[in-house]
Amino acid sequence: MGEAREECGIAAVSAPEKENAAYYLYKLLLQQQNRGQLSAGITSFNSKRKMLLNTWRNIGLVNEVFKSHNEKFFSGLMEKFSGEKGIGHVRYATFGGNEKAYAQPFERKHGRKWKWFSFGFNGNITNLPELKKRLEEHNYNFILGNDTELIMHYLARGCRGDSKPKAVDVFSGLHPELDGAYSISFVNAEGETVLARDPFGFKPLVFGEKDGLIAAASESAALESIGIEKFEPVRPGGLVEIGNGIEKKFFCKSSRKAHCMFEWVYFANIASEIEGVGIYSARYALGKELAKIETEKMGSEHVVVPVPDTAKPAADALAFSLGVPSKEGIIRNRFVGRTFIQGSKRSDRVKEKYAVNKTITKGKKLMVVEDSIVRGTTTKGLVNFLKETGKAKEVHVRVSCPPIRFPCFYGIDMSAFSELIAAHEKTADLKTVETKLSEKENEKIRNSIGADSLAYQSIEGLVKGIGLPENDLCMACINGKYPTPVGEKLKQSAWENYNKGEAKRAYE
Ligand code: SF4
Repeated sequence: MGEAREECGIAAVSAPEKENAAYYLYKLLLQQQNRGQLSAGITSFNSKRKMLLNTWRNIGLVNEVFKSHNEKFFSGLMEKFSGEKGIGHVRYATFGGNEKAYAQPFERKHGRKWKWFSFGFNGNITNLPELKKRLEEHNYNFILGNDTELIMHYLARGCRGDSKPKAVDVFSGLHPELDGAYSISFVNAEGETVLARDPFGFKPLVFGEKDGLIAAASESAALESIGIEKFEPVRPGGLVEIGNGIEKKFFCKSSRKAHCMFEWVYFANIASEIEGVGIYSARYALGKELAKIETEKMGSEHVVVPVPDTAKPAADALAFSLGVPSKEGIIRNRFVGRTFIQGSKRSDRVKEKYAVNKTITKGKKLMVVEDSIVRGTTTKGLVNFLKETGKAKEVHVRVSCPPIRFPCFYGIDMSAFSELIAAHEKTADLKTVETKLSEKENEKIRNSIGADSLAYQSIEGLVKGIGLPENDLCMACINGKYPTPVGEKLKQSAWENYNKGEAKRAYE
Protein backbone atom coordinates (compact mmCIF):
# COMPACT_ATOMS: atom_id res chain seq x y z
CA MET A 1 0.00 0.00 0.00
CA GLY A 2 2.66 2.46 1.08
CA GLU A 3 0.14 5.23 1.75
CA ALA A 4 0.19 5.38 5.52
CA ARG A 5 3.25 5.36 7.66
CA GLU A 6 4.11 4.40 11.16
CA GLU A 7 5.70 7.02 13.31
CA CYS A 8 8.54 5.19 15.00
CA GLY A 9 10.30 2.15 16.35
CA ILE A 10 12.13 1.98 19.66
CA ALA A 11 14.75 -0.28 21.24
CA ALA A 12 16.67 -0.78 24.49
CA VAL A 13 19.61 -2.98 25.44
CA SER A 14 21.51 -4.06 28.51
CA ALA A 15 24.59 -5.87 27.22
CA PRO A 16 26.42 -8.74 28.93
CA GLU A 17 29.80 -7.88 30.49
CA LYS A 18 32.49 -6.89 27.98
CA GLU A 19 29.95 -6.58 25.17
CA ASN A 20 28.83 -3.38 23.50
CA ALA A 21 25.19 -2.27 23.82
CA ALA A 22 25.67 0.16 20.89
CA TYR A 23 26.26 -2.67 18.45
CA TYR A 24 23.13 -4.53 19.58
CA LEU A 25 21.12 -1.33 19.29
CA TYR A 26 22.32 -0.81 15.73
CA LYS A 27 21.22 -4.36 14.88
CA LEU A 28 17.82 -3.88 16.50
CA LEU A 29 17.24 -0.67 14.57
CA LEU A 30 18.15 -2.33 11.29
CA GLN A 31 15.36 -4.84 11.81
CA GLN A 32 12.88 -2.06 12.54
CA GLN A 33 13.59 0.09 9.54
CA ASN A 34 10.04 -0.61 8.35
CA ARG A 35 8.77 1.57 11.22
CA GLY A 36 10.57 4.75 10.20
CA GLN A 37 12.96 5.79 7.47
CA LEU A 38 13.48 9.44 8.24
CA SER A 39 16.01 9.32 11.05
CA ALA A 40 17.76 6.93 13.40
CA GLY A 41 19.79 7.18 16.57
CA ILE A 42 21.07 5.68 19.78
CA THR A 43 22.02 6.84 23.27
CA SER A 44 24.51 4.68 25.15
CA PHE A 45 25.33 4.66 28.83
CA ASN A 46 28.92 3.99 29.86
CA SER A 47 29.81 4.25 33.56
CA LYS A 48 33.52 4.60 32.70
CA ARG A 49 33.04 7.47 30.29
CA LYS A 50 32.98 11.15 31.33
CA MET A 51 30.06 11.59 29.01
CA LEU A 52 27.92 9.06 30.87
CA LEU A 53 25.20 9.30 28.26
CA ASN A 54 26.15 9.95 24.67
CA THR A 55 23.77 10.25 21.74
CA TRP A 56 24.33 9.67 18.01
CA ARG A 57 21.41 10.53 15.80
CA ASN A 58 20.87 11.87 12.33
CA ILE A 59 18.57 12.04 9.34
CA GLY A 60 18.69 8.95 7.14
CA LEU A 61 18.17 5.21 7.05
CA VAL A 62 19.89 3.21 9.78
CA ASN A 63 22.82 2.26 7.57
CA GLU A 64 23.22 5.84 6.38
CA VAL A 65 23.19 7.23 9.91
CA PHE A 66 25.72 4.65 11.12
CA LYS A 67 27.68 4.72 7.81
CA SER A 68 28.03 0.97 7.99
CA HIS A 69 29.49 0.83 4.44
CA ASN A 70 32.57 2.55 5.85
CA GLU A 71 34.17 -0.04 8.09
CA LYS A 72 36.62 2.36 9.71
CA PHE A 73 33.97 4.96 10.47
CA PHE A 74 31.52 2.37 11.73
CA SER A 75 33.97 0.68 14.12
CA GLY A 76 35.12 4.11 15.34
CA LEU A 77 31.50 5.03 16.01
CA MET A 78 30.84 1.77 17.83
CA GLU A 79 33.95 2.39 19.94
CA LYS A 80 32.99 5.97 20.73
CA PHE A 81 29.45 5.03 21.70
CA SER A 82 30.30 1.74 23.37
CA GLY A 83 28.32 1.20 26.51
CA GLU A 84 26.78 -1.14 29.00
CA LYS A 85 23.26 -0.06 28.23
CA GLY A 86 21.39 2.12 25.80
CA ILE A 87 18.30 2.93 23.81
CA GLY A 88 17.60 3.39 20.10
CA HIS A 89 15.04 4.92 17.78
CA VAL A 90 13.93 5.05 14.14
CA ARG A 91 11.54 7.78 13.09
CA TYR A 92 9.02 8.69 10.47
CA ALA A 93 7.49 12.12 10.94
CA THR A 94 3.75 12.54 11.30
CA PHE A 95 4.44 15.67 13.31
CA GLY A 96 7.38 18.03 13.28
CA GLY A 97 10.04 18.78 10.78
CA ASN A 98 12.49 16.66 8.88
CA GLU A 99 15.57 18.16 10.52
CA LYS A 100 18.09 16.43 12.74
CA ALA A 101 16.72 18.28 15.79
CA TYR A 102 13.61 16.08 15.63
CA ALA A 103 15.60 12.84 15.44
CA GLN A 104 15.56 10.71 18.57
CA PRO A 105 16.65 9.61 21.15
CA PHE A 106 16.04 12.91 22.87
CA GLU A 107 18.68 13.61 25.47
CA ARG A 108 18.18 15.98 28.38
CA LYS A 109 21.45 16.85 30.07
CA HIS A 110 21.65 17.69 33.76
CA GLY A 111 24.37 17.91 36.41
CA ARG A 112 22.64 15.36 38.59
CA LYS A 113 22.95 11.88 37.20
CA TRP A 114 19.39 10.76 37.74
CA LYS A 115 18.08 13.95 36.19
CA TRP A 116 20.21 13.45 33.07
CA PHE A 117 18.28 11.13 30.79
CA SER A 118 17.50 10.19 27.23
CA PHE A 119 14.42 8.58 25.75
CA GLY A 120 12.79 7.42 22.52
CA PHE A 121 9.08 7.51 21.88
CA ASN A 122 6.66 5.77 19.52
CA GLY A 123 3.13 7.11 19.29
CA ASN A 124 1.26 10.37 19.30
CA ILE A 125 -0.06 12.54 22.11
CA THR A 126 -3.52 13.71 21.12
CA ASN A 127 -3.84 16.50 23.70
CA LEU A 128 -0.47 18.08 22.89
CA PRO A 129 -1.78 21.64 22.26
CA GLU A 130 -3.64 21.77 25.56
CA LEU A 131 -0.78 20.31 27.63
CA LYS A 132 1.78 22.50 25.89
CA LYS A 133 -0.26 25.59 26.71
CA ARG A 134 -0.57 24.49 30.31
CA LEU A 135 3.18 23.96 30.67
CA GLU A 136 3.94 27.26 28.96
CA GLU A 137 1.74 28.98 31.52
CA HIS A 138 4.08 27.48 34.11
CA ASN A 139 7.08 29.00 32.35
CA TYR A 140 8.18 25.91 30.42
CA ASN A 141 9.79 26.62 27.08
CA PHE A 142 9.19 24.64 23.87
CA ILE A 143 11.74 24.79 21.10
CA LEU A 144 10.35 22.13 18.77
CA GLY A 145 6.79 22.12 20.11
CA ASN A 146 6.25 18.43 19.44
CA ASP A 147 5.01 15.64 21.67
CA THR A 148 8.53 14.33 22.29
CA GLU A 149 9.47 17.63 23.88
CA LEU A 150 6.26 17.52 25.89
CA ILE A 151 7.11 14.05 27.25
CA MET A 152 10.63 15.28 28.03
CA HIS A 153 9.18 18.09 30.18
CA TYR A 154 6.89 15.66 32.01
CA LEU A 155 9.72 13.22 32.65
CA ALA A 156 11.96 16.07 33.83
CA ARG A 157 9.17 17.29 36.08
CA GLY A 158 8.89 13.80 37.55
CA CYS A 159 12.62 13.86 38.36
CA ARG A 160 12.68 17.21 40.14
CA GLY A 161 13.51 17.61 43.83
CA ASP A 162 16.49 16.66 45.96
CA SER A 163 15.83 12.99 46.35
CA LYS A 164 15.79 10.52 43.52
CA PRO A 165 12.28 9.31 42.67
CA LYS A 166 11.41 5.74 41.75
CA ALA A 167 10.96 5.17 38.01
CA VAL A 168 7.39 4.11 38.60
CA ASP A 169 6.66 7.50 40.21
CA VAL A 170 8.27 9.38 37.33
CA PHE A 171 6.19 7.52 34.76
CA SER A 172 2.98 7.56 36.77
CA GLY A 173 3.13 11.37 36.38
CA LEU A 174 2.60 10.92 32.63
CA HIS A 175 -0.59 8.94 32.79
CA PRO A 176 -3.18 11.37 34.15
CA GLU A 177 -1.98 14.04 31.72
CA LEU A 178 -1.27 12.34 28.41
CA ASP A 179 -4.01 11.14 26.10
CA GLY A 180 -2.90 9.02 23.19
CA ALA A 181 -0.41 6.36 22.26
CA TYR A 182 3.07 6.09 23.72
CA SER A 183 5.64 3.38 24.00
CA ILE A 184 8.82 4.73 25.57
CA SER A 185 12.40 3.52 26.07
CA PHE A 186 14.38 5.50 28.65
CA VAL A 187 17.89 5.51 30.10
CA ASN A 188 19.44 7.84 32.67
CA ALA A 189 23.05 8.68 33.54
CA GLU A 190 23.00 6.11 36.31
CA GLY A 191 22.31 3.47 33.69
CA GLU A 192 18.73 2.88 34.80
CA THR A 193 16.84 1.68 31.76
CA VAL A 194 13.06 1.70 31.65
CA LEU A 195 10.40 0.67 29.14
CA ALA A 196 6.86 1.97 29.40
CA ARG A 197 3.72 1.39 27.38
CA ASP A 198 0.52 3.47 27.51
CA PRO A 199 -2.51 1.95 29.27
CA PHE A 200 -4.11 0.92 25.96
CA GLY A 201 -1.02 -0.75 24.53
CA PHE A 202 -1.55 0.92 21.14
CA LYS A 203 1.99 0.34 19.92
CA PRO A 204 3.85 -2.93 20.23
CA LEU A 205 6.79 -3.28 22.63
CA VAL A 206 8.41 -6.57 23.61
CA PHE A 207 11.37 -7.51 25.74
CA GLY A 208 13.38 -10.63 26.46
CA GLU A 209 16.64 -11.99 27.78
CA LYS A 210 19.27 -14.49 26.77
CA ASP A 211 22.62 -15.25 28.40
CA GLY A 212 22.80 -11.92 30.18
CA LEU A 213 21.69 -9.90 27.16
CA ILE A 214 18.44 -8.05 27.88
CA ALA A 215 16.77 -6.23 25.02
CA ALA A 216 13.51 -4.61 24.05
CA ALA A 217 12.11 -3.52 20.69
CA SER A 218 8.93 -2.53 18.90
CA GLU A 219 9.36 -5.59 16.66
CA SER A 220 9.86 -9.07 18.08
CA ALA A 221 11.70 -9.97 14.84
CA ALA A 222 14.39 -7.50 15.91
CA LEU A 223 14.91 -9.37 19.19
CA GLU A 224 15.18 -12.65 17.31
CA SER A 225 17.83 -11.13 15.08
CA ILE A 226 20.09 -10.80 18.13
CA GLY A 227 19.32 -14.29 19.39
CA ILE A 228 16.49 -13.55 21.84
CA GLU A 229 13.81 -16.04 20.95
CA LYS A 230 11.76 -15.83 24.12
CA PHE A 231 10.08 -12.50 24.65
CA GLU A 232 6.93 -11.04 26.10
CA PRO A 233 5.02 -7.79 25.61
CA VAL A 234 5.33 -4.90 28.00
CA ARG A 235 1.84 -4.89 29.48
CA PRO A 236 -0.45 -1.93 28.76
CA GLY A 237 0.13 0.54 31.58
CA GLY A 238 3.20 -1.49 32.40
CA LEU A 239 6.75 -0.56 33.07
CA VAL A 240 9.84 -2.73 32.82
CA GLU A 241 13.00 -1.77 34.67
CA ILE A 242 16.22 -3.22 33.36
CA GLY A 243 18.89 -3.18 36.03
CA ASN A 244 20.87 -6.27 36.90
CA GLY A 245 17.76 -8.20 35.99
CA ILE A 246 14.25 -7.39 34.85
CA GLU A 247 11.53 -5.95 37.08
CA LYS A 248 7.95 -5.65 35.86
CA LYS A 249 5.59 -3.11 37.37
CA PHE A 250 2.57 -1.00 36.47
CA PHE A 251 2.74 2.78 36.36
CA CYS A 252 -0.98 3.14 35.67
CA LYS A 253 -4.16 1.14 35.47
CA SER A 254 -5.29 -0.23 32.13
CA SER A 255 -9.09 -0.22 31.81
CA ARG A 256 -9.04 -1.78 28.34
CA LYS A 257 -6.54 -2.73 25.68
CA ALA A 258 -6.56 -1.08 22.26
CA HIS A 259 -3.80 -2.61 20.15
CA CYS A 260 -3.60 -0.93 16.74
CA MET A 261 -5.11 -3.36 14.21
CA PHE A 262 -3.00 -1.77 11.47
CA GLU A 263 0.12 -3.39 12.88
CA TRP A 264 -1.16 -6.81 11.78
CA VAL A 265 -2.66 -5.51 8.56
CA TYR A 266 0.28 -3.49 7.28
CA PHE A 267 2.91 -1.98 9.55
CA ALA A 268 4.69 -4.63 11.53
CA ASN A 269 7.54 -6.72 10.24
CA ILE A 270 6.05 -9.89 8.78
CA ALA A 271 8.37 -12.04 10.92
CA SER A 272 7.20 -10.40 14.16
CA GLU A 273 4.44 -11.28 16.54
CA ILE A 274 2.36 -8.93 18.63
CA GLU A 275 0.45 -10.03 21.72
CA GLY A 276 1.24 -13.62 20.75
CA VAL A 277 -0.24 -13.31 17.26
CA GLY A 278 2.16 -13.75 14.35
CA ILE A 279 1.94 -11.05 11.69
CA TYR A 280 2.28 -13.56 8.85
CA SER A 281 -0.42 -15.86 10.17
CA ALA A 282 -2.81 -12.94 10.77
CA ARG A 283 -2.28 -11.67 7.21
CA TYR A 284 -2.77 -15.17 5.82
CA ALA A 285 -5.98 -15.54 7.84
CA LEU A 286 -7.20 -12.19 6.47
CA GLY A 287 -6.80 -13.61 2.96
CA LYS A 288 -8.90 -16.62 3.91
CA GLU A 289 -11.59 -14.32 5.26
CA LEU A 290 -11.54 -12.38 1.98
CA ALA A 291 -12.09 -15.63 0.07
CA LYS A 292 -15.29 -16.24 2.06
CA ILE A 293 -16.91 -13.11 0.64
CA GLU A 294 -15.62 -13.48 -2.93
CA THR A 295 -18.37 -13.23 -5.54
CA GLU A 296 -16.30 -13.24 -8.75
CA LYS A 297 -16.59 -16.61 -10.49
CA MET A 298 -13.07 -17.96 -11.00
CA GLY A 299 -11.95 -19.28 -14.39
CA SER A 300 -8.74 -20.17 -16.22
CA GLU A 301 -7.99 -16.48 -16.95
CA HIS A 302 -7.95 -15.49 -13.27
CA VAL A 303 -4.69 -14.85 -11.45
CA VAL A 304 -4.25 -13.49 -7.93
CA VAL A 305 -1.62 -10.73 -7.80
CA PRO A 306 -0.38 -9.39 -4.45
CA VAL A 307 0.68 -5.79 -4.02
CA PRO A 308 4.13 -6.46 -2.59
CA ASP A 309 5.27 -7.03 0.03
CA THR A 310 2.70 -6.71 2.78
CA ALA A 311 -0.30 -8.15 0.91
CA LYS A 312 1.50 -11.35 -0.16
CA PRO A 313 0.27 -13.67 2.64
CA ALA A 314 -3.35 -12.52 2.17
CA ALA A 315 -3.05 -12.97 -1.61
CA ASP A 316 -1.58 -16.46 -1.23
CA ALA A 317 -4.41 -17.46 1.11
CA LEU A 318 -7.05 -15.99 -1.20
CA ALA A 319 -5.57 -17.81 -4.20
CA PHE A 320 -5.34 -21.11 -2.34
CA SER A 321 -8.95 -20.85 -1.15
CA LEU A 322 -10.23 -19.91 -4.61
CA GLY A 323 -8.13 -22.54 -6.39
CA VAL A 324 -6.32 -20.09 -8.68
CA PRO A 325 -2.59 -19.28 -8.87
CA SER A 326 -0.99 -16.41 -6.96
CA LYS A 327 1.70 -14.82 -9.11
CA GLU A 328 4.04 -11.85 -8.92
CA GLY A 329 2.44 -9.58 -11.47
CA ILE A 330 3.70 -6.53 -9.58
CA ILE A 331 7.37 -6.31 -8.66
CA ARG A 332 8.58 -3.92 -6.01
CA ASN A 333 11.72 -1.92 -6.62
CA ARG A 334 13.71 -2.62 -3.47
CA PHE A 335 16.40 -0.09 -4.27
CA VAL A 336 14.32 3.03 -4.60
CA GLY A 337 15.29 4.24 -1.13
CA ARG A 338 14.40 7.12 1.06
CA THR A 339 14.47 9.87 -1.55
CA PHE A 340 11.37 8.31 -3.04
CA ILE A 341 9.80 7.56 0.32
CA GLN A 342 10.01 11.13 1.57
CA GLY A 343 10.21 13.05 -1.65
CA SER A 344 8.14 12.71 -4.78
CA LYS A 345 4.42 13.30 -5.15
CA ARG A 346 2.21 10.42 -4.03
CA SER A 347 0.72 10.11 -7.51
CA ASP A 348 4.16 9.69 -9.12
CA ARG A 349 5.35 7.09 -6.70
CA VAL A 350 3.76 4.01 -8.22
CA LYS A 351 6.05 3.79 -11.23
CA GLU A 352 9.10 4.54 -9.10
CA LYS A 353 8.15 1.94 -6.58
CA TYR A 354 6.78 -0.87 -8.73
CA ALA A 355 7.29 -2.60 -12.06
CA VAL A 356 4.58 -4.57 -13.81
CA ASN A 357 5.38 -8.13 -14.88
CA LYS A 358 3.61 -8.36 -18.23
CA THR A 359 4.36 -12.09 -18.64
CA ILE A 360 1.95 -12.65 -15.75
CA THR A 361 -0.62 -9.93 -16.34
CA LYS A 362 -1.18 -9.75 -20.12
CA GLY A 363 -4.69 -10.80 -21.11
CA LYS A 364 -5.51 -11.98 -17.58
CA LYS A 365 -8.28 -11.22 -15.12
CA LEU A 366 -6.31 -10.05 -12.12
CA MET A 367 -7.46 -10.35 -8.53
CA VAL A 368 -5.18 -7.69 -7.06
CA VAL A 369 -4.84 -7.94 -3.29
CA GLU A 370 -4.03 -4.77 -1.32
CA ASP A 371 -3.54 -4.76 2.44
CA SER A 372 -5.46 -1.47 2.78
CA ILE A 373 -6.50 1.64 0.90
CA VAL A 374 -6.07 5.03 2.55
CA ARG A 375 -5.93 7.80 -0.04
CA GLY A 376 -6.38 5.54 -3.03
CA THR A 377 -3.68 7.18 -5.14
CA THR A 378 -1.38 4.14 -5.00
CA THR A 379 -4.16 1.72 -5.86
CA LYS A 380 -5.39 3.94 -8.67
CA GLY A 381 -1.87 4.20 -10.07
CA LEU A 382 -1.39 0.45 -9.86
CA VAL A 383 -4.69 -0.41 -11.54
CA ASN A 384 -3.87 1.97 -14.35
CA PHE A 385 -0.33 0.58 -14.63
CA LEU A 386 -1.62 -3.00 -14.79
CA LYS A 387 -4.09 -2.11 -17.50
CA GLU A 388 -1.93 0.21 -19.60
CA THR A 389 1.49 -1.38 -19.33
CA GLY A 390 0.55 -4.82 -18.03
CA LYS A 391 -2.22 -5.25 -20.64
CA ALA A 392 -4.47 -6.91 -18.08
CA LYS A 393 -7.94 -7.81 -19.33
CA GLU A 394 -9.62 -7.00 -16.01
CA VAL A 395 -8.39 -5.75 -12.65
CA HIS A 396 -10.42 -6.67 -9.56
CA VAL A 397 -9.20 -5.11 -6.31
CA ARG A 398 -9.56 -6.97 -3.00
CA VAL A 399 -8.58 -5.28 0.24
CA SER A 400 -7.67 -7.26 3.34
CA CYS A 401 -8.57 -4.35 5.66
CA PRO A 402 -12.09 -2.84 5.92
CA PRO A 403 -12.62 0.68 4.51
CA ILE A 404 -10.68 3.39 6.39
CA ARG A 405 -13.48 5.89 7.03
CA PHE A 406 -12.05 7.83 9.98
CA PRO A 407 -8.70 9.53 10.66
CA CYS A 408 -6.07 8.23 13.05
CA PHE A 409 -4.85 10.46 15.88
CA TYR A 410 -2.56 7.89 17.43
CA GLY A 411 0.52 8.19 15.27
CA ILE A 412 -0.42 6.88 11.83
CA ASP A 413 -0.04 9.34 9.00
CA MET A 414 -3.73 9.90 8.16
CA SER A 415 -5.27 12.43 10.51
CA ALA A 416 -7.85 14.19 8.29
CA PHE A 417 -11.09 12.91 6.74
CA SER A 418 -10.15 14.64 3.49
CA GLU A 419 -7.18 12.27 3.11
CA LEU A 420 -9.37 9.18 3.07
CA ILE A 421 -10.89 7.89 -0.14
CA ALA A 422 -13.51 5.99 1.88
CA ALA A 423 -14.53 8.92 4.11
CA HIS A 424 -18.27 9.47 4.26
CA GLU A 425 -19.79 12.29 2.25
CA LYS A 426 -19.41 15.69 3.86
CA THR A 427 -23.04 16.49 4.56
CA ALA A 428 -23.81 13.45 6.67
CA ASP A 429 -24.18 13.70 10.42
CA LEU A 430 -21.10 12.11 11.93
CA LYS A 431 -23.25 10.04 14.28
CA THR A 432 -24.98 8.38 11.36
CA VAL A 433 -21.81 7.41 9.48
CA GLU A 434 -21.92 3.70 8.77
CA THR A 435 -18.72 1.70 9.02
CA LYS A 436 -19.78 -0.32 6.01
CA LEU A 437 -19.72 1.31 2.59
CA SER A 438 -23.02 1.52 0.77
CA GLU A 439 -23.12 -0.01 -2.70
CA LYS A 440 -23.11 3.50 -4.12
CA GLU A 441 -20.01 4.47 -2.12
CA ASN A 442 -18.20 1.28 -3.08
CA GLU A 443 -19.03 1.98 -6.71
CA LYS A 444 -17.72 5.53 -6.42
CA ILE A 445 -14.35 4.32 -5.08
CA ARG A 446 -14.18 1.52 -7.64
CA ASN A 447 -14.76 4.05 -10.35
CA SER A 448 -12.20 6.43 -8.93
CA ILE A 449 -9.43 3.79 -8.83
CA GLY A 450 -10.47 2.42 -12.23
CA ALA A 451 -10.96 -1.19 -11.09
CA ASP A 452 -13.45 -3.63 -12.62
CA SER A 453 -14.66 -4.56 -9.17
CA LEU A 454 -13.76 -3.69 -5.60
CA ALA A 455 -14.37 -5.61 -2.36
CA TYR A 456 -13.18 -4.88 1.16
CA GLN A 457 -12.73 -7.10 4.18
CA SER A 458 -15.55 -6.98 6.72
CA ILE A 459 -14.89 -5.84 10.31
CA GLU A 460 -15.89 -9.34 11.49
CA GLY A 461 -13.36 -10.84 9.04
CA LEU A 462 -10.66 -8.50 10.30
CA VAL A 463 -11.26 -9.42 13.95
CA LYS A 464 -11.41 -13.12 13.11
CA GLY A 465 -8.23 -12.89 11.03
CA ILE A 466 -6.27 -11.20 13.82
CA GLY A 467 -7.74 -13.60 16.34
CA LEU A 468 -7.78 -11.30 19.39
CA PRO A 469 -10.98 -10.20 21.16
CA GLU A 470 -12.56 -7.24 19.35
CA ASN A 471 -12.41 -5.15 22.54
CA ASP A 472 -8.64 -5.56 22.74
CA LEU A 473 -8.15 -3.84 19.38
CA CYS A 474 -8.16 -0.22 18.30
CA MET A 475 -10.20 -0.05 15.11
CA ALA A 476 -11.10 3.64 15.37
CA CYS A 477 -10.10 4.37 11.78
CA ILE A 478 -12.64 1.83 10.55
CA ASN A 479 -15.41 2.02 13.15
CA GLY A 480 -15.00 5.60 14.48
CA LYS A 481 -14.85 4.40 18.10
CA TYR A 482 -11.82 6.11 19.59
CA PRO A 483 -10.50 4.46 22.74
CA THR A 484 -9.46 7.76 24.38
CA PRO A 485 -11.60 10.83 25.23
CA VAL A 486 -9.42 13.28 23.27
CA GLY A 487 -9.53 10.93 20.26
CA GLU A 488 -13.34 11.27 20.32
CA LYS A 489 -13.08 15.07 20.53
CA LEU A 490 -10.60 15.24 17.66
CA LYS A 491 -12.93 13.11 15.54
CA GLN A 492 -15.61 15.76 15.97
CA SER A 493 -13.31 18.69 15.12
CA ALA A 494 -11.76 16.80 12.17
CA TRP A 495 -15.29 16.18 10.87
CA GLU A 496 -16.17 19.87 11.20
CA ASN A 497 -13.00 20.85 9.30
CA TYR A 498 -13.86 18.33 6.61
CA ASN A 499 -17.38 19.67 6.26
CA LYS A 500 -16.06 23.21 6.00
CA GLY A 501 -13.88 21.97 3.15
CA GLU A 502 -10.69 22.53 5.12
CA ALA A 503 -8.05 19.93 4.45
CA LYS A 504 -6.59 20.74 7.86
CA ARG A 505 -5.08 17.81 9.72
CA ALA A 506 -5.61 17.31 13.44
CA TYR A 507 -2.19 18.73 14.31
CA GLU A 508 -2.14 21.80 12.10
S1 SF4 B 1 -7.06 4.62 14.55
FE1 SF4 B 1 -6.49 2.93 13.19
S2 SF4 B 1 -4.37 3.27 12.61
FE2 SF4 B 1 -4.82 4.57 14.39
S3 SF4 B 1 -4.19 3.37 16.18
FE3 SF4 B 1 -6.35 2.95 15.86
S4 SF4 B 1 -6.39 1.17 14.51
FE4 SF4 B 1 -4.33 1.99 14.45
